[in-house]
Amino acid sequence: MEVGYYFICETKLWLFHHNIQLEREHENVKIGKQIHEDRYPRVKKEVGIRNKMKLDFVEKGDQLYIHEVKKSNKMEKSHLFQMYFYLDYLQRHGVDVKGELHYPLLNKKKEVEFGEKEREELQKVKDKIKKIVLGNIPEPKKKKICGKCAYEEFCFSSEVGST
Ligand code: SF4
Repeated sequence: MEVGYYFICETKLWLFHHNIQLEREHENVKIGKQIHEDRYPRVKKEVGIRNKMKLDFVEKGDQLYIHEVKKSNKMEKSHLFQMYFYLDYLQRHGVDVKGELHYPLLNKKKEVEFGEKEREELQKVKDKIKKIVLGNIPEPKKKKICGKCAYEEFCFSSEVGST
């Protein structure tokens, strides 16, 4: 989640990291879950691995695949790095795995390439995330996505948002 949030908003990343988690309640999250239910009814959903990750679903044929289902591809970079994080973690633990992103409302799916270059990029992002979450809360900055963000009220109708 944090890798994904890094590309969306540093404030959101910080809030989530510090356990101010409103996402489960938000309408957009419910819609996302419903899309998953409707489009992939037969697969086991939300496969949790320790406290590290919650995969949307996994498939084991000749090759093990992990899958993430997304509502739109507007945040594709965030989706990609979230998948890099999963692939990196699993591969480092000896799992031969590939990943795929699904955009059912766009009838699109994308196999995610993950090699040395992507591993290095991921490490840089992880270092930056560490720096952000160990610091003070980043000041919320209004952007397009705020209207769809579960933290909007927190950011813009509290003292945090008005400073
Ligand atoms: S409301 Fe906007 S500024 Fe606040 S956490 Fe969400 S995206 Fe970030």
